[in-house]
Formats: sequence, C-alpha cells, structure tokens
Amino acid sequence: MFNKRIKIKELLVQEPQNQVVTVMGWVRTFRNNQFIALNDGSANTNLQVVAELGKFDEELLKRLTTSAAIRATGVVVPSQGKGQIMELKADVIDILGDSDAEKYPLQPKKHSLEFLREKAHLRFRTNTFASIFRVRHTLAFAINKFFNEKGFTYLHTPIITASDAEGAGEMFKVTTLPLEGAPKNEDGSINFKEDFFGRATNLTVSGQLEAELGATALGEVYTFGPTFRAENSNTARHLAEFWMIEPEMAFYDLEDNANLAEEFIKYIIRYALENNREDLDFLANRQAEEEKQLPQDKRSEMGLIEKLEFVINNDFQRLTYTEAIDILTNSNHNKKKKFQYPITGWGMDLQSEHERYLVEKHFKKPVILMNYPASIKAFYMRLNEDGKTVAAMDILAPGMGEIVGGSQREERLDVLLQKMEAMHIPAEEMWWYLDIRRFGTVPHAGFGLGFERMVQFVTGMGNIRDVIAFPRTPKYADF
Ligand code: ATP
Ligand code: MN
Repeated sequence: MFNKRIKIKELLVQEPQNQVVTVMGWVRTFRNNQFIALNDGSANTNLQVVAELGKFDEELLKRLTTSAAIRATGVVVPSQGKGQIMELKADVIDILGDSDAEKYPLQPKKHSLEFLREKAHLRFRTNTFASIFRVRHTLAFAINKFFNEKGFTYLHTPIITASDAEGAGEMFKVTTLPLEGAPKNEDGSINFKEDFFGRATNLTVSGQLEAELGATALGEVYTFGPTFRAENSNTARHLAEFWMIEPEMAFYDLEDNANLAEEFIKYIIRYALENNREDLDFLANRQAEEEKQLPQDKRSEMGLIEKLEFVINNDFQRLTYTEAIDILTNSNHNKKKKFQYPITGWGMDLQSEHERYLVEKHFKKPVILMNYPASIKAFYMRLNEDGKTVAAMDILAPGMGEIVGGSQREERLDVLLQKMEAMHIPAEEMWWYLDIRRFGTVPHAGFGLGFERMVQFVTGMGNIRDVIAFPRTPKYADF
C-alpha cells in the first residue's frame, strides 16, 4: 500500500508531540538548504519539513525544487522558527517526481491572474487557486446538502436537447453530420432526419422545463449541471459553459420562491464560512491587497468576510420592478446622466449598471426584484392580475448584479397557450410541457442560480474565468 500518509490539514490540528508520520506533497519552496515548505492540497497552510544539515545527500537536496513531489517521514516537533507551530524533522525524504526548476513555468513569486489563466493546468498549485477550488467544492457540497435536508430530489436533466424554445440564450448545435456535403432537403435546408438523433439538437441552456416535469410529480426537485450559451459576451460574468442550480417546486408561489432562494443563498455562504475559513481569510487578504492598487472610490466598502457576514445576517431588500424604475428615474445618478444606458421608463430592460446602482449605491444590500413587465421576460412566467407584469424575480448581489433568475410558472393552459402564440413559441413541439398543465396542473415556481457567479461572490474573484477550472469563452477552449 502506497498511501500511508497523513494529510497536512489533519496534522496541523494535532499537538506536536514527537509522533512519527509520513506526508506527501509538492515542494513550494526550499530555503537555506534546510527548510521545505510542503503543500499537499488539503490546506492553504504549508507544512515545514526540516532536512537537517548534513543528514541528506547533496544530490537529494538539489532535487528539492519548486513543485517537486516528495514523500517525507519523520517526527513532529514544536517549531523553533517563527511562522508555524510545528515542523516535521525528516528522517527519510524520497523524491516521487522531479521538477526541473529551469523549466517549471511558475516561479515562487506573485503571478498575475491573466498569466495564470494561460497556465491553467498548473494554477491549482498556487495558494489562490487551491483556495478557490476548495471553496467551490464546499459550495457544491453545501448546495446538495441544503436540498437534501429539505427533501428535494436531485434530478439530472439532459445536456443534449431537441427543444430550442427555452429562449434563455444562443445555443450550440450538436450534430454528427459532415460540415461539407451535409444532406439537404428540397428547399436547401439541412436534413436533420439524417443526423444522429434524427432531428436537430443542441446543448442545453437550462434544465428548467424538464425540472418542471419532475416537480409536478416529485414535488420538489433541483438540477445541478452544466449549461451552455453560445452568446458572444466577453464579460467578467459570462462563460460559454457554466454550471447552474435549478430548483423547481410544486405548490410554491413567487413569495415562497423568493423565501427559498434567500434561505438557500444564506445557507451555502454560512456553510463556506464555517468550513473554509482558512481559505476565505486568505482570499479576503488577496482581495484587499489587489484593491490597494485601485482608487479609493473603486474599492469595496466591506472586506470579503465582512460582506459575507453582512449578507447572511440581513434581510434581502425586496421590491417590485415598478418601484425600482421609480428609484432609478429619480436618482441623482440618472439626473446627472451618469448611466451609460439612460432610464427610459417603465418597460425597459435593466442593464447591469442599473442593477448594481440599486444594490451598491441605493440599498447597499442584496435585492430581490419582482414582477417585471411581461414583454421583457420568458413565456413561461406567470401573468399577474394586472395583465402586464409577470411573477418573475431576479436576485441582485453587490459587486455582481444578477445572480439568480426565477419565477412562478404559468400553470393555466389557456393563458400559457396565448403567451406562446404571441411570442411565436411552437406549441406543437412543446406538447410534453403543456401536458403538465393538462393533467393535474398546480401553482409552481423555481429559479436558476449561476454557480460560478456564486463562487465569484464568495471568493471575491473579479473574473468568472478564475472560478472554473478550465473556462470556455468566445475564441477560447484550451485545456
Ligand atoms: P445575464 O443577464 O447576466 O446574462 P441571464 O438573464 O441570461 O443573465 P438566466 O437565463 O436567468 O440569466 O440564467 C440564470 C442564472 O445563470 C443567472 O442569474 C446567472 O447567475 C447565470 N448565468 C446566465 N448566463 C451566464 C453565463 N453566460 N455565464 C455564467 N453564468 C450565467
Ligand atoms: Mn444572459
């Protein structure tokens, strides 16, 4: 058996009392031909492994380079030096894998996030990225834990879909037809009957419609899977491939939906604060350091930890779209014409700058905006009594803008059919979706949380490309 080791995270919480242990990991630095800072990925903190002078071959010491993989066995003693409480006095050091210091792309110094994006295969070996991915893991775990505790069923909805009526964004085509000489119909269009699935298919933009089918039998379901959008938005908040959590609940109205979303967001943030404190403290420092470069008015008003604690300890501000338009119209920011997109009044779609104004300048807390004009929202959202708004909700987060989009769904067959016709959604193709309204229809609601935006919010990372292992964005699919 090879894996007879203790993880550094587990060792660091023990008392140093001459226990004999074996650790394995990667050398971060090797100082004074004596002190190895060893990291095994279990924690942000390195273990100091001491190779006492004279005890080891010169040949071996030369191979203790940055990122070399080693195994060390020895006794754990209180540390003489500053900066750590314990150290491992090595009796045996084996090199498991050499790392040529001349060729290793990362130096033991600060690299820019942009540089590290080009070295995404190695960036896990930096403190910043190891912390981000541990926090990402914790959030994913907390999400499943939250819904499991609430009795939701985890539903895996398809990644390849024939439905293109979801309207959430541009889709990637899935086909095995040749690019050249694809079979054609008489009118010159491509004959998808000849394609793998016998019809045109795409990568999913959302699992919602399928989740509705599950919810109206299982009661409460959630999806947590990859979604794809071929939108050419080169922003710090958009990916072409991202992960989404989509709970869908029978017997929920819009208020129930907002309550669940707020409880859910607070739960997963609290779970990360309780279980990833070391990583979050590290990331909080990183953000504070990074912001020192910025002018005062561009810096966050709160530190990362303070912000997260503020979010879990305060109610989200709830207001209607109509109220939001009033606030924006009457704001000094608008009167001084400081919005890039002017406020044109009721009916306009809100841009990210408007959302961020509401969250960051006006309310200074997360906001749940409800009841949007029907004309700017998807066909499946439930029409309100006023006949012009729908029971939609967006949750807006400080520093981020939209993080959740959701709604109560239209459960009335006749209203839904009218909406679909008006919005040119082909009802024949959606027969299965409509059947839910034909057989035992019930009020139901749900929302979608973009997982990477949540990870950004919790880690304080400014660019979404830094919170997913291998980002896919326009003109970029390396690794
Ligand atoms: P936005 O206006 O920011 O593009 P959207 O209105 O297209 O968002 P929805 O279709 O409601 O978003 O998707 C639900 C959630 O998925 C959003 O609230 C957001 O958190 C996330 N999301 C949407 N598009 C992307 C993307 N391209 N990359 C990462 N996350 C996304
Ligand atoms: Mn979008």
